[in-house]
Amino acid sequence: MHLTRLRLAGDPRGWGRLIGRGSDCSVGDNGKAMGELRDTLGRPLRNLRLSVTDRCNLRCNYCMPEEEYVWLAREHLLTFEELSRLVEVFVSVGVTRIRLTGGEPLLRRDLDVLVAELARKPGIRDLAMTTNGLLLAEQADALKRAGLHRVTVSLDTLDPRRFERLTRREGHDRVLAGLEAARRAGFRGTKLDAVVMRGVNDDEIGALLRFARSIGAEMRFIEYMDVGGATRWTREQVVSRAEILAAVERELGPWSPIVPSEEEGSAPAERFRLADGTTFGVIASTTAPFCGRCDRSRLTADGVWYLCLYAASGLDLRSPLRRGASDDELRARLVPTWRRRDDRGAEERLALHDRTASQPAAALKGDPHLEMHTRGG
Ligand code: SF4
Repeated sequence: MHLTRLRLAGDPRGWGRLIGRGSDCSVGDNGKAMGELRDTLGRPLRNLRLSVTDRCNLRCNYCMPEEEYVWLAREHLLTFEELSRLVEVFVSVGVTRIRLTGGEPLLRRDLDVLVAELARKPGIRDLAMTTNGLLLAEQADALKRAGLHRVTVSLDTLDPRRFERLTRREGHDRVLAGLEAARRAGFRGTKLDAVVMRGVNDDEIGALLRFARSIGAEMRFIEYMDVGGATRWTREQVVSRAEILAAVERELGPWSPIVPSEEEGSAPAERFRLADGTTFGVIASTTAPFCGRCDRSRLTADGVWYLCLYAASGLDLRSPLRRGASDDELRARLVPTWRRRDDRGAEERLALHDRTASQPAAALKGDPHLEMHTRGG
């Protein structure tokens, strides 16, 4: 048993409790603490979605349907050094899984340099990226060499014309080329994400699943969410988990649920298996939210930490970082903030009787941090 106590300005009592138990709560040679930091609902802090840019090269109807956007100030964007430093502090309080997001993360120049830096950090067990795939063909090899573990590619349709209507940009062929490049680069465990919308792509559930199977990827169907940015959201357009599963059964036969391992227990997707062994997932954030086991938080590209996709405000980490705060001082901000966390955004939305878009377009223009593309989805 490794017993170590750190004194922290601002929260010495809590931090001492945090790391004072067992070998999984120790401080290693490199000064990193692996703690069982838990929020008020007993949820650990394990997953960090790291947005590296708020820019995107698509304009998907369910995420960025407006014509104009307010972007984060360029001088506020964290440098790779700053991102790396913050990740190190997050890892020291328990984060083990990092997912690079955007906007579109591959728009961030030299992303492989950041990946290489993160891949070197002991304590990160899973280093993944969610991308729209447009720039993946050019970057897959470099990302693999840099140490990225896995990619998730958004693919809402197999029809190039429909892709253009849905994303308001061209490039379906580039997404497919990106998937092929990822396979050739050696990525395994690739996932394909499709947001299913009624009357838009709900007739492609079977085809998308067959396509994913044909390239050795796992399909994940996502219910259309009323998060910030989804200003055109309506309840009627949501294709529920139950409807998605019924469509799969109609087209590909019966499925059975996969009991998640302890490791997978907090993952957003419920997973299923077809008779031929093909697996797929459903992320039912709208009709069957999973807030009770949510261990993820989000850092925006300008260093604001959000504890929930629906949170109205976040914790500014850029300012103390740029004022020269020590790691202990940064931890002293993270730890009590997570311990006070009681967010259950999607569950609270589910309880609403009259449910419309969670943020009007005007509010999003006033604070771009409310946008899903800023928070990394
Ligand atoms: S709504 Fe918030 S608390 Fe619920 S699963 Fe999403 S991020 Fe987690």
